[in-house]
Amino acid sequence: MTPLIDPFARAITYLRVSVTDRCDFRCVYCMSENMTFLPKAELLSLEELDRMCSAFIGLGVQKLRITGGEPLVRKGIITFFNAMSRHLDSGALQELTLTTNGSQLERFADDLHAAGVRRVNVSLDTLDQDKFAQITRWGRLPQVLRGIDAAQAAGLRVKINAVALKGFNDCELFTLTEWCASRDIDLTWIEVMPMGDIGNENRLDQYWALSDLRTRLAERYTVTDLAERSGGPARYVRLEETGQKIGFITPLTHNFCESCNRVRLTCTGQLYMCLGQEDMADLRPALRNHPDDDAPLVQAIHAAIAAKPKGHDFDYSRQRADGQMPRHMSHTGG
Ligand code: SAM
Ligand code: SF4
Repeated sequence: MTPLIDPFARAITYLRVSVTDRCDFRCVYCMSENMTFLPKAELLSLEELDRMCSAFIGLGVQKLRITGGEPLVRKGIITFFNAMSRHLDSGALQELTLTTNGSQLERFADDLHAAGVRRVNVSLDTLDQDKFAQITRWGRLPQVLRGIDAAQAAGLRVKINAVALKGFNDCELFTLTEWCASRDIDLTWIEVMPMGDIGNENRLDQYWALSDLRTRLAERYTVTDLAERSGGPARYVRLEETGQKIGFITPLTHNFCESCNRVRLTCTGQLYMCLGQEDMADLRPALRNHPDDDAPLVQAIHAAIAAKPKGHDFDYSRQRADGQMPRHMSHTGG
């Protein structure tokens, strides 16, 4: 099979798959309170998701991240994880992982570990119960904390992703850092991105530059830059006093596109070649119209990768959210 190399000589080895647009939370920066979700018939079935992911793995994808919406609310999702574990067994896939809000981890942590998952990203912006309920609208902090406990007890390495929000969790910078350090958890901060129409929230008011966050960390800790790169928008430092790794995902203030190794598949089979661009390829017809032949799908994947854009256009520097994307993060999967 010809591997997936885009026009800018970037090898595509990382696929992020949104398995549902639904969620049991309504985080204010991600969704409006009254979301309209896709009719179930629009979604790829678990079997179709399997065929799709397996085709990408056959073309050199080595890392698969399952996301959403909330991936663990998709019915039968553990069956899908179990099916994907055959690619870990064969050695074709190096990592099978997921990003979750943690609400269902208490139920599924052991199953995920049994399917070969070894790391999980849990999104958690605050350790304050009231603020947690406010930011997620429908989420409850103790349930997520029990989920994190269950994940660690099952042997999953947990990483926390926190969206940096001025006037909301900036005051918790050290509390969150120390809580993660005490539990041997790495922490990554994400700049809030202009995705989707989510109602009245003003993103320029919420925006907390991670350069400022880093400066504040350096006032208390010795911060060492790490060379480690993930092929994505994350940069890492180590806090020498705690030994902890802290990540910064800064799509708005740094250009990371030159080393981009990833594409994103929606739950309906649309492939977004760049998180910050509207270009997409609908792979579903090639999949559905040829149930017994993968050749058209493989051809459609190659054609899509040949159209991967050079980079994104997010820019807050002109005091408005330039490059704003009309689609929700839960559609493409964060
Ligand atoms: N439901 C899962 C979760 O919350 O982890 C997976 C999907 S969620 C869309 C993936 C990540 O995107 C989460 O860490 C979330 O905080 C982040 N996210 C959602 N909307 C965002 C936005 N507007 N800017 C930055 N990050 C966002
Ligand atoms: Fe759901 Fe995740 Fe979006 Fe929050 S960020 S509403 S948990 S999909």
